[in-house]
Amino acid sequence: MIDPANIPALHASHGGIWLRDGGHTIALAKGQAIARAAETPVLLLNAPLTGQRLGYPELNGLDLLELWAFLHPARFLVPTPKGLAQALGLPAPANESDIPALLQEAARAMLARMEAQDWSEREGAWTAAQALNRLRWPWAQLAGPHIAKPKEAERWLFSKLPEWEEAQPRPAPRTIALPEDKVLARLDQLTGTGAEPRAGQRAYAAAASTAFRPKERRDQPNMLLAEAGTGIGKTLGYLAPASLWAGEAQGTVWVSTYTKALQRQLDRESLRLFPNPAVAARRVVVRKGRENYLCLLNLEDALQGGFAGRAAILAQLVARWAAYSKDGDMVGGDLPGWLPTLFRRNGSTALTDRRGECIYAGCPHYRKCFIERSARASADADIVIANHALVMINAARGRETGQRPQRIVFDEGHHLFDAADSTFSVALSGQEAIELRRWIMGPESGSRGRRRGLAARLSDLASYDEEGGQAIRGAIDAAQALPADEWLKRVVAGEPFGPVEALLGAVRGTVYARAADAGEADAGYGLETELAEPDGPLVEAAQEAALALDALVKPLTRLSRRLEAVIEDAPDWLDSAARARIEGAVASLGWRRDLIAAWLALLARIGGPADADYVDWLAVDRVEGREYDIGIHRHWLDPTRPLAETVLKPAQGVIITSATLTGGGEWDNAERRSGAIHLPGGAERFEAASPFDYPGRAEVLIVTDIKRGDIAALSGAYGRLIEAAGGGTLGLFTAIRRLRAVHARIADRLARTGLPLYAQHVDPMDTGTLVDIFRDDPRASLLGTDALRDGVDVPGHSLRLVVMEGVPWSKPTVLHAARRLAGGGNAYDDRLIRARLAQAFGRLIRRAEDKGSFVILSAAMPSRLLSAFPPGTPIRRLTLDEAIIAVSRQAHSEPPLGLSAALGHGGATPA
Ligand code: SF4
Repeated sequence: MIDPANIPALHASHGGIWLRDGGHTIALAKGQAIARAAETPVLLLNAPLTGQRLGYPELNGLDLLELWAFLHPARFLVPTPKGLAQALGLPAPANESDIPALLQEAARAMLARMEAQDWSEREGAWTAAQALNRLRWPWAQLAGPHIAKPKEAERWLFSKLPEWEEAQPRPAPRTIALPEDKVLARLDQLTGTGAEPRAGQRAYAAAASTAFRPKERRDQPNMLLAEAGTGIGKTLGYLAPASLWAGEAQGTVWVSTYTKALQRQLDRESLRLFPNPAVAARRVVVRKGRENYLCLLNLEDALQGGFAGRAAILAQLVARWAAYSKDGDMVGGDLPGWLPTLFRRNGSTALTDRRGECIYAGCPHYRKCFIERSARASADADIVIANHALVMINAARGRETGQRPQRIVFDEGHHLFDAADSTFSVALSGQEAIELRRWIMGPESGSRGRRRGLAARLSDLASYDEEGGQAIRGAIDAAQALPADEWLKRVVAGEPFGPVEALLGAVRGTVYARAADAGEADAGYGLETELAEPDGPLVEAAQEAALALDALVKPLTRLSRRLEAVIEDAPDWLDSAARARIEGAVASLGWRRDLIAAWLALLARIGGPADADYVDWLAVDRVEGREYDIGIHRHWLDPTRPLAETVLKPAQGVIITSATLTGGGEWDNAERRSGAIHLPGGAERFEAASPFDYPGRAEVLIVTDIKRGDIAALSGAYGRLIEAAGGGTLGLFTAIRRLRAVHARIADRLARTGLPLYAQHVDPMDTGTLVDIFRDDPRASLLGTDALRDGVDVPGHSLRLVVMEGVPWSKPTVLHAARRLAGGGNAYDDRLIRARLAQAFGRLIRRAEDKGSFVILSAAMPSRLLSAFPPGTPIRRLTLDEAIIAVSRQAHSEPPLGLSAALGHGGATPA
């Protein structure tokens, strides 16, 4: 057996590069490190990140994170040296130069664990190691001798996973009312004995219970808008009536969030509702879009030769994980978020069902399928934790699936408008159209994975039913008019093939002509232009494309009718598997037909009259000058209208809640952005201010001497502020370009003083992992964009300073301009900006004992926006030098004793 102490170990950060070899650790230069790593495999932690630090992205080696994924497949790990040490019970490294030795120690400890009798993830390891050895996984040779060969052949994943049970559909819930004393007693039970009663939380729970009353009027759900400042404890406040109602009425409450962070927190809270984890897993179900889950058929295909090279190794590690996963969720579930990035995202998306190619009951793994299991589990659950988009889609399509959400709590309700905006929008773009073509026609040459077209998915219908077969062939013929592989190249070269590619060419021509006039074409970012006054070639191309799409709708409609008739007549060949498959096909055909109908409406608009309900525009999507999609877009001017029609009106009860629902007391705004104005009886209101001592524990500092557009000054300011706070800083940007520029200028300097700096859009890691690293290391800082403004929940000392690069103005898009015009001009902009400021500020104080500074680097921050901050919070305009003194004082002062006890229990972190 090889002792890892004899394998060289490499660590590289912005602070330097260290190699341990032959018992000595030395600092070395990039070139030397690259040469060493190229000549012999080295131990390292996170190869892509190390490679990036070395300026050598292809770096490979013995990555300890891959070994961890093999050893403990579904176990959480913060992927840093400190996180690894902690997970293995080893002393944390005191200096960066100690890290290579730690890597050797950690490798030894992990290999030793494979010999331990109580290795809980032993099953399947030997077989996986054999397969990984054949794939030349660098660890296979080292790990192999430590894994005992099992006496009996190991069951392979697909026979080992449990099957879900078909259950009787749940009857409609009972009609009950919730007495307030019972709701409050449930709240006491959830907060725990000994917790100090919190008046705000009790009032909140009582208000939330009104949404569970029996519905009195058609189209008017019991609707509550509830603004509860951070620290009220609203999660348990609504879970108290929700869980009580679900238990007594035998129904399901959907709790919907916008961020994964809150979903995870809610999942953890489920143990308060049901302390027995087995019961909790049954009664509280996390439900996500199907593209999040592992598709076992895709995995089987990957394991059996569909994937090659590194992607095949990833498939093996994913198969290890699937055997131990709680729910098969690959995005934000128990698959480490860092695992796909170790493989440069190579293959991970092909393992999910992203393109609606599921063959349902025709799939050999249907009865074990994670997606099917989660859908069934949610039908019987008390609480379903989902996201806004999924709730809206289920509400819109729920008639077919029998899973229409009827009682809904929208937490993070300030995002409902944006979620509705994207859910109810339409895009006729090259990417969307080629997806439809593939769904109908199946794979084109050389495509990876198991892709099947309509004919393969409905092979029995195609062969036994003449009319059905004809409709399928008709659809395949008509789908030839849709864009095919390499469409973008052809369109850019001016050689489109077929009417839809020709349309995209005309769209592109118009966008470039108009955007170039506005001087934007060379900036390298997305381009768009209003769909107004289209020229002759565009109108003609739209008419041709509409004819082609119309010709596609017809056979799809015939096919739908035929499938419905087959279900009705039930011919001999229709066994229960075929029936389920055909029912699945009817539903997905329906969505596709709706999509094409929406495209046709959009095309009719080109050259026709505009519809005041919509905002339409043409766009070329680009990243750093590279085009990746072209299309026509349509959004509702007010997306809360379809929200009200499809989600709110049919529901029995709806709570929309957030810490920043009104944007500073503007209830009209909350009613407009939640869709309450479209309900005949509107909504009830509830309001509770945060119990936190913002005046005593937070401050807003507006730095007035950094000139806009001066990157050197901006970088200098970030660097000095982070130093003053000793790390623990969240830096927020509105443009990725500036974020990268600032990071490049300050990361090395900060690292040399022991202050690691991480950044979204720079470090090759997913956002969730970056936040985990940031949370785990109080000296770390993190730079990011919008997702961090809302999704970061880091209580305690790890986050003590938030720095915004400036006022978060809106991007001047066509959509924004239209809404601004309709929404009152400057007042509309101000509301949006205040909401963003309030969200960003909300990251700072998550618990009563937190404290910190909120800095805006802006010479021109208008005073009218300052009402975004909680009343009483000190706000000062000052120079950078003064701000640095203030930040340093705030970050290093001690919290007053006993304050935490006075202000609340501080257990659950409210969103
Ligand atoms: S049922 Fe569909 S999603 Fe599930 S494993 Fe089979 S093909 Fe994949």
